[in-house]
Amino acid sequence: MQCEICGSDIKGNPIRVNVEGSVLDVCGKCSRYGKPADKWSPVSRKILPTEKVIVTHKPRKDVFDKLEGEIVPDYASIIKKARESQGLTIEALASKMMEKAALIRKIEREELIPEDTVRKKLETALNIKLTERVSSQDQRGGGFIRGTTLGDVAVIRKKAK
Ligand SMILES: [Zn+2]
Repeated sequence: MQCEICGSDIKGNPIRVNVEGSVLDVCGKCSRYGKPADKWSPVSRKILPTEKVIVTHKPRKDVFDKLEGEIVPDYASIIKKARESQGLTIEALASKMMEKAALIRKIEREELIPEDTVRKKLETALNIKLTERVSSQDQRGGGFIRGTTLGDVAVIRKKAK
């Protein structure tokens, strides 16, 4: 390691100084020509990757925020549990929602994913929440829902039972 000002060999660690805007590694004698440079501490290096993650995730999250979340994968069991805990039969719930019992039955059997209007009626009637922010799905190891069709999800879920 040579001093970047006088060119002499530096014994031990060079001193990093800022000379008129450029950072130089110099010997002890030449260190008086510059100001002590900012140290490249491990802390400042650690911040960089974290910032990158935030930057790459932000635009994606904004796009999906507009969709006001997706229906949760286990909507059927949430509906069934909520309905049973309120002591409602499928018929009673259906009439409360002004929908057909067959529709509720299909939804509870995961044969049908409720469309937005039906989902909102279910949420109101049972006081539950069936949507989930996509951002939280991302954190759980995302890509699964988006990269998979709903039919695939149903197949996977059936296999899991
Ligand atoms: Zn020197």
